[in-house]
Amino acid sequence: MSILLLTNDDGVHATGLAALARALADVGDVYVIAPEREQSACGHALTLHRPLRVVEVRERWWAVNGTPSDCVNLGVLGFLPERAVMVVSGINHGSNLGDDVTYSGTVSAAMEGTLLGVPSLAVSLVEGGDFELAGRVARLVAMRVLVHGLPRKTLLNLNLPAAAVRGVRVTRLGHRVYSDKIVEQTDPRGRTHYWIGAGSPRWEELDGTDIGAIHEGYAALTPLHLDLTNHRAAAEMSGWEPSLTAQVL
Ligand code: MN
Repeated sequence: MSILLLTNDDGVHATGLAALARALADVGDVYVIAPEREQSACGHALTLHRPLRVVEVRERWWAVNGTPSDCVNLGVLGFLPERAVMVVSGINHGSNLGDDVTYSGTVSAAMEGTLLGVPSLAVSLVEGGDFELAGRVARLVAMRVLVHGLPRKTLLNLNLPAAAVRGVRVTRLGHRVYSDKIVEQTDPRGRTHYWIGAGSPRWEELDGTDIGAIHEGYAALTPLHLDLTNHRAAAEMSGWEPSLTAQVL
C-alpha cells in the first residue's frame, strides 16, 4: 500500500481536489484530508491554539476545521494508517506563480509535507482551465517524483495554463513588481478603511520564469527549496560578528 495524501486550500468540496483524486487513483491509495472551507491565501499557518476536529466526508476523505498545513501535519504525523509516500496539494482554482507562492495555502501544504520529509507537489490551474487536463499532467509529474524522488528540502510547484498545454517547462519563480498602492476609502459612516492587493500584478522579465511559461501556454514546473538561508550573504556578513559581539558584551 502506497498512500498518497491529498489536500488543498479551496476546501474539501472543491472541483479541483476531486479532479486530482480521480487523476491519481491508479498511482496509489488516495487519502484526502482537506480544510472544511476555503482557506486561500492563508500561507503556511498552523492552528496551535484550538483543537482540530476531523470529520469523515466519505471513505478515505476527511474535512478539518483548519488550514492546508494542519491537514498535512495531521496526515503525515499519525492520522493515516501508514506514512504517506507523497503529498499532493491542489488542484488550486487559480495559479500560484512567482513571489505569490509565499501567500499560497496550496504551496504551503506542499512545504509542510517537505518539512516532514515526504516528497510533495503543489498543483494550480489558471482560472478557466481544464481540471481533467491539469490532473493528467499532475499524474505524470507525480509518477516521476515517485520513481526518482526529490532533492532534500525541495518541493515542486506545478502550474497549468488555461488553454491547451503546449508542453512542460522547468522554470524558476518570477518576481512581482510592487507598484500597487493601498486603496483608501471611506464608508457611509465616515470611517476610513483600506484594501490591499487590489491592483493587477506586474512582473519583472519573463524569460525562464513560471509566469513566462504560463503566458506562452506551457505547464510550469518549478522546484522550490526550503532552505531560506542566503548562504552567500551569511559568508559576506561574517565580518559583522566581532563588532556586534563586542557591542553586546
Ligand atoms: Mn485556493
